[in-house]
Amino acid sequence: SPRIQNGRVVLEGLDGSGKGTQGALLMDKYGVAHIESGAVFRQHVGSGTELGKKAKEYMDRGELVPDEITIPMILDILGKQGDKGWLLDGFPRNMEQARKLHEALDKAGMRLDYVVEIQLPRETAKQRIMGRRLCAVNNNHPNNIHIDAIKPVGDACRVCGGALSARADDQNEEAINKRHDIYYDETNGTLAAARYFKKLAAADPKTTYIELDGSGSIDDIRNTLLAQLH
Ligand code: AMP
Repeated sequence: SPRIQNGRVVLEGLDGSGKGTQGALLMDKYGVAHIESGAVFRQHVGSGTELGKKAKEYMDRGELVPDEITIPMILDILGKQGDKGWLLDGFPRNMEQARKLHEALDKAGMRLDYVVEIQLPRETAKQRIMGRRLCAVNNNHPNNIHIDAIKPVGDACRVCGGALSARADDQNEEAINKRHDIYYDETNGTLAAARYFKKLAAADPKTTYIELDGSGSIDDIRNTLLAQLH
């Protein structure tokens, strides 16, 4: 059975690159937890917690929620998984988060099994972002009005018929550009974090670093990814 079943995976990719969709597919196939930092924040915003109130202003602008809020929130969730496998989606997004994640795992005697980097040009990602819709029932039901394979049925979720909505930050071009700038920041941003793990993986045979072209169909990307998860 593949390592991923009780393995630890980080999914990196430009907003709109399809990492959430691939994460949902891997979760279904292997029964691993899909931990999505953005979804955790949206839950806090939705239920009106203090954390949610603080996070919302950053999210609306497409900026990162400060590390002192984000890092403990995610490390706490990871700590609760024990030995079970997980897929981390949307974290780390900068160097500080990458270092703190590595430190926490190292302390627990753990390694990342896979780091997956999905690559896609900005303009394609922007189109996808503007088309995606959130299912009110289940965050792991991908819907996108611009992608035939996951097109909603009428106005409803294609998986469960649940109500769909567009995220405000997905319809705001300025917020999208901001998120993409953070991703492409090779000094401190998400690409810097990805490079950091790529270097660690090169020095550690337990960690596999996978670079994926995100421009194909959902099925093609999934098959290419599955072939590399061994
Ligand atoms: P996402 O659903 O991944 O697009 O995330 C939505 C928003 O949540 C982002 O634009 C950020 O404001 C916030 N967010 C998600 N993940 C992180 C993270 N790792 N660090 C800081 N902010 C984050």
